[in-house]
Amino acid sequence: MSFNPDRIPGVPVRRVSRSFFPVLALVLPCTVMAQGFRGGTQIKPGESCPPGTTEVRPRSCLAPEGQVPSIVDYRPKSTLKVPATMRMKAKFPVVDFHGHPGGPQIGSVEALERFGVQLDSINVRLMLVAGNVSGDRLTQGIALVNQSKTMKDRVRFLTGINFGGIGTPGWADKAVAQMEADKKAGAVGIGEVGKGFGLSTKKADGSRLKLNDPELKPVWAAAARLKLPVFIHTADPQEFFRPVDYTNERWLEQSLFPERRYPQDRFPSFEQLMAERDSLFKANPQTTFVAAHLGWHANDLGRLGKMFDEMPNVLGEMGAVLYDIGRQPRAAHDFFVKYQDRILFGKDSYQPEEYPYYWRVLETRDDYFDYYRDYHAFWKLYGIDLPDVVLKKVYYQNALRITGVPMTGWPK
Ligand SMILES: [Zn+2]
Repeated sequence: MSFNPDRIPGVPVRRVSRSFFPVLALVLPCTVMAQGFRGGTQIKPGESCPPGTTEVRPRSCLAPEGQVPSIVDYRPKSTLKVPATMRMKAKFPVVDFHGHPGGPQIGSVEALERFGVQLDSINVRLMLVAGNVSGDRLTQGIALVNQSKTMKDRVRFLTGINFGGIGTPGWADKAVAQMEADKKAGAVGIGEVGKGFGLSTKKADGSRLKLNDPELKPVWAAAARLKLPVFIHTADPQEFFRPVDYTNERWLEQSLFPERRYPQDRFPSFEQLMAERDSLFKANPQTTFVAAHLGWHANDLGRLGKMFDEMPNVLGEMGAVLYDIGRQPRAAHDFFVKYQDRILFGKDSYQPEEYPYYWRVLETRDDYFDYYRDYHAFWKLYGIDLPDVVLKKVYYQNALRITGVPMTGWPK
């Protein structure tokens, strides 16, 4: 049998009608039949449409009629009807590895007890205070928590590194001595080492303190010896380092908060900071590092996976990047399953009503739902439907393992 490219097996060959041209109008799309184009602009292959127009057919651009709303005024209501399984409480108790509670939450015994009721309503059992609490502030904070019968085991503190005076003799000895004292007092980790480290912190001679500065080596070595994981926030989303033009995915956020921009004539580039960070992680393989915000690679899980593969001492914390996880539900599901021992739940800013969005993304199969901050993400989210064994690791088992907080009382 000879091969006929027009012949699809099982489908009868259709003969072109002799009266083909007269019926052409019948097969044209309805919109063209009804309206025709109002003088669109033609573009060449590979070109973008001119400002104010959009591509309506291949290489044909059209401007909307009437007044065009700005992106803050365009608020379409979804007509999609799908099951929604919003729930307030996480399925398993949670350690929030990236907590920034303040005076209203942990400033007094009464505040702590009110805080406990709030945490119960979302099923967060343990809050880590990632505020670099050191010295007297640490011992006072711990003493206060210990005074509360209900909150005694539900708030723990990370200590901090004071980079002030780095570059002067004896700096590292002092920093290590403080770390030892804070560990003894009850600190369970170090951090959050803020994004200023790398971006703006200066050494005594006025030069920028690089993330992989050898002068810091004794501090990372002490963290390993004391079994204190180092929680470190490096840089910010890569779009904050790019020109704020209309192709920038975070245009709205940077227009609302111009201080979030890192103009490249004044700041190191995103890639420069990532290179310094990776060199720090690799040069200290005995030290456990937790990259805040999944290292700002949640939009590139291939890169994050490579980082986890190459650096077994590194974990990632998932605070404030939910918009990237929830927009790739299948890839994120597989990633969380594959790297289930390397990811920690964290929320960052304390807003109890925002936690349920995390539970929904991590636990459900829901389609196409709103994120809680439009300016982070103009897109919708999807549930990634993690199995219980993975949820337990991300919610609490990994955090308990690396901080050494006892597992007793937590589900198996
Ligand atoms: Zn933080």
